[in-house]
Amino acid sequence: MPDKATAAFIKRNCANYDKDGKCLLDLTESGRLCPFMHDVPYRCKYGRESVLPADPDLSLKYEASIGQAATAGKACADCGEPFEPKSNRQERCSSCGAHHRRKKKRGYNREYQLRKYRNN
Ligand SMILES: [Zn+2]
Repeated sequence: MPDKATAAFIKRNCANYDKDGKCLLDLTESGRLCPFMHDVPYRCKYGRESVLPADPDLSLKYEASIGQAATAGKACADCGEPFEPKSNRQERCSSCGAHHRRKKKRGYNREYQLRKYRNN
């Protein structure tokens, strides 16, 4: 089961959530219980991609809870925004990363120049 807030949000906002907890997308006579609530791991593409993103907070938490966060959401060390890391060592989003690299390079260059002066 997704957490209470997420479940409540789906019940309230999913256009296919039937009052008895079934999914209106299933057209068979007996119907099928809402896959968002009952399948493990919760696989309802519709709920996940079309309903939940209306609440970005819930959506982010939900993705984290089903383990997507490992690949899709690392928080940037500088700005704190979630980003998709291209490697396990990446700590910053691409814009902060570029900024950080420039800053580091400036530092190296300054040290290099200082050393040069002192040695002459
Ligand atoms: Zn950043």
